[in-house]
Amino acid sequence: MRNYLVKTPVLLKAIYNRCVWHINEHANSVYITFDDGPHIAATPFVLEQLRKYNAKATFFCIGKNVEEHPAIFQQILDEGHAVGNHTFNHLNGWKTENFSYFKNIKKASGFIESNMFRPPYGRITLNQAIGIERMFPKMKIIMWDVLSGDFDIALEPNACLNNVIQTTKPGSIVVFHDSAKAWDRLYYTLPAFLKYCHQKGWNMKKLNF
Ligand SMILES: [Zn+2]
Repeated sequence: MRNYLVKTPVLLKAIYNRCVWHINEHANSVYITFDDGPHIAATPFVLEQLRKYNAKATFFCIGKNVEEHPAIFQQILDEGHAVGNHTFNHLNGWKTENFSYFKNIKKASGFIESNMFRPPYGRITLNQAIGIERMFPKMKIIMWDVLSGDFDIALEPNACLNNVIQTTKPGSIVVFHDSAKAWDRLYYTLPAFLKYCHQKGWNMKKLNF
């Protein structure tokens, strides 16, 4: 028991230190990210909302979805946003053998040119984080400090909005999802959140690694 208690925080810290959780250098900027697209309806909706505020964001795409929706993926790039790798098949690192995990990231990188990786479900082992550093030396593992909870179908849209408004501060990396599952909350929360950031005078920027 004691061994477990001592060891776990050390492991977590080693993983934690290898990841980017927020951005320090831009005191007045927030970094909004969208996971799991491109999606046929949700992604064009997100792009339209961002356009209203001239906001830039980062899209952590699933390789399989880029293969299915290349035109939407291209639109993300054409509108000046950043993209990141979110594996080809949305693999859970805790449940995936390392070789398969790396191979899946590599496959996604054939569709998504980026030095940013976000592990699906935020679940990655220390060995996987170290493996990524070795296999993809320029790759940064990007996590977040604000989780909207838009993927939680039990969450009321208004509670989702309150989540992001109460926890976002300058330098925050905020997670939404351009996916069918998140749609009911995204549709409600994103326009209001962008308006809130705009009123705060925050620049909405893409991540740049
Ligand atoms: Zn995901």
